[in-house]
Amino acid sequence: MKVYADNAATTMMSRTAKEAMMPYFDVLYGNPSSLYSFGQEAKTALEEARAKVAKALNADPREIYFTSGGSEADNQAILSAAIAGEKKGKKHIISTAFEHHAVLHTLNKLRKQGYEVTLLDVHENGVVTAQEVADAIREDTCLVTIMFANNEIGTIQPIAEIGAVCREKGVLFHTDAVQAVGHVPVDVKAMNVDMLSLSGHKFHGPKGVGALYVKKGIMLHNLIEGGAQERGKRAGTENVPAIVGMAAALEESVENMDKNMAKITAMREMLIEGLSKIPHSKLNGDREKRVPGTVNFCFEGIEGESLLLLLDDAGIAASSGSACTSGSLDPSHVLLAIGLPHEVAHGSLRLSVSEYNTPEEMKHIIKSVPEVVDYLRKLSPVWEDLEKGVKEYVIQ
Ligand SMILES: *Cc1c(COP(=O)(O)O)cnc(C)c1O
Repeated sequence: MKVYADNAATTMMSRTAKEAMMPYFDVLYGNPSSLYSFGQEAKTALEEARAKVAKALNADPREIYFTSGGSEADNQAILSAAIAGEKKGKKHIISTAFEHHAVLHTLNKLRKQGYEVTLLDVHENGVVTAQEVADAIREDTCLVTIMFANNEIGTIQPIAEIGAVCREKGVLFHTDAVQAVGHVPVDVKAMNVDMLSLSGHKFHGPKGVGALYVKKGIMLHNLIEGGAQERGKRAGTENVPAIVGMAAALEESVENMDKNMAKITAMREMLIEGLSKIPHSKLNGDREKRVPGTVNFCFEGIEGESLLLLLDDAGIAASSGSACTSGSLDPSHVLLAIGLPHEVAHGSLRLSVSEYNTPEEMKHIIKSVPEVVDYLRKLSPVWEDLEKGVKEYVIQ
């Protein structure tokens, strides 16, 4: 049996998205900037896609800018807020220690340019509180950027409460909602979000396309110069097929959200229940405040990398952290941020399921993971020390 359980890394494209895209490769292939009808048909498709994305977020179509993905949207949002802040003498930014690297690396760049960055503690449950955000806001704070849902452990932040705090204090609020959009309800107005990043390939759309929502009146800074596309804020001929596919996938995800959330949550609960039975294992992140599909476990005494390889042999595609870090031997910054010691953070497993998975696949996972963990522990000198009592278990 082949089981794809790494939907937080990327998803299969839905048939709806694929079919929506097809005409834009070989029939409606005009450039939206061209004035003849070939171009105008593409332009119409682009604006229809913009309206669909806006509707999914409860935004206005004029507040949606298409990008090459979540990373670009994060970069553009943060740099824009920083530049606007500097003009007012405000160079302090608040974020968390467990953001995606698209956010953390952009913040590092700004640090080198003289900005001050406060990274809030996300606690053992992987959640910050709105009160902590409020306490960290200063006179010179120009931006709060906090992710909606974490990509490694799946925990959801109190976005509406944080939004209310930022609105009250007059500070811009950006959220990287790449793991949330299409999976849980997102409403930029009700949640007082000023800027929001999303990515097509995390909700069964194509890769290499995303969007940035920017509330009316907020100045955007260009990352790419050269043309008047996206109201002059993102130059380059639009990736019309990908944009159309992303909008179709998002529309479909939102339409089926209640149904999918119930189905995916039930499978996630199977995983949590099944894998919690493994001795000296631990579910990472809050038990309740999480997206439907993502679970992350630590198993004491083993290496995440060996676990992944053996699971691959069992037909299971999973991850030990984010796709970006799973090639390296450094433990995940997310697991360290929630306070796990290095040796335990190494033995982690992320499983992320979608509506295309089945309960039978969950059973295969629940059967295979304990076998693989058991096998690896028998080979592990660390495990031997733990069993003999030479070392103490970190996870009871
Ligand atoms: C995947 C992901 C990104 C990056 O999106 P891309 O479209 O792959 O650039 C950013 N943030 C989070 C939370 C993600 O999961």
